[in-house]
Amino acid sequence: MDYQQLIERLYQETKPLAAQGKVASYIPALAEVPASRFAISLITRKQEKFQTGDHQMPFSIQSISKVFTFILAYKNLGAAIWDRIGREPSGTAFNSLIQLEHEQGIPRNPFINAGAIVVADIILSICKNPKQTLLDFVRTLAGDQAITFDKQVALSEKTTGHRNYALAHFMKGFGNIINPVDEVLDLYFHQCALAMNADQLASSFLFLANEGTNPFDQQEVLNPSRAKRLKALMLTSGLYNESGDFAFRVGLPAKSGVGGGIVAVIPKQLSIAIWSPPLNAMGNSIAGIEALERFTTYSGQSIF
Ligand code: GLN
Repeated sequence: MDYQQLIERLYQETKPLAAQGKVASYIPALAEVPASRFAISLITRKQEKFQTGDHQMPFSIQSISKVFTFILAYKNLGAAIWDRIGREPSGTAFNSLIQLEHEQGIPRNPFINAGAIVVADIILSICKNPKQTLLDFVRTLAGDQAITFDKQVALSEKTTGHRNYALAHFMKGFGNIINPVDEVLDLYFHQCALAMNADQLASSFLFLANEGTNPFDQQEVLNPSRAKRLKALMLTSGLYNESGDFAFRVGLPAKSGVGGGIVAVIPKQLSIAIWSPPLNAMGNSIAGIEALERFTTYSGQSIF
């Protein structure tokens, strides 16, 4: 398969579709990102790289970070994590409060905001220095020590994060947040503010194409069974209330963020990251989804 030729084709065909979306505007640091940015970065299990566009330009990974923090918590708690978080698709917006009332403060899955806030609470309980632990973990996964938090984004997340405060306090009312809300959200806002480029993102998910083992240092990140389960969660909940449509159109486990990034994995084969900031109504990158749909169509590869 000539992946370079394929991603160049995706670039040409799908970049113009970004014009149909809207760049996230809830904080200036995201609103100011040019809508025309576009990157595709693909890395195979054998570490062959295929890249095009703005693939070296860092952007705010936002909700993609929920995968990293979930791994840290899952490694530590194992199956006990399911006492505090569900594993069903939510069918509601990523920042919705509605289901939490019905379901007694237990979020539907780890990839909606409520679920990620519980995960942040778990990490706070198990780590002395949670932000540094997260940073070290992501750097190791990506095989790149240059990754950092964008402090300005983290601060803006805090000043505009009213719904996240509401979610956290609401869950604390149900006893599902143990640490002080401010400390939990400080970690959550920093994870959202991780700045990574498409190359680093593709590399950091490559372990999922390698049955749970980091191909850069041969360390097991998750055992094969847990890696399989994480991919199942990404397939069913990775794109919020668009996860079903994404599985239908693309057919890969993936995770998106409101910075316009989407990273997807073909088990045993490769990881691919796309970045295009304009979003659809569900908060997912319009051109990113389209590029991934054409990627699986043209290459004839998907998990189905
Ligand atoms: N910072 C955003 C929030 O908490 C992240 C959401 C996202 O990427 N969907 O609302």
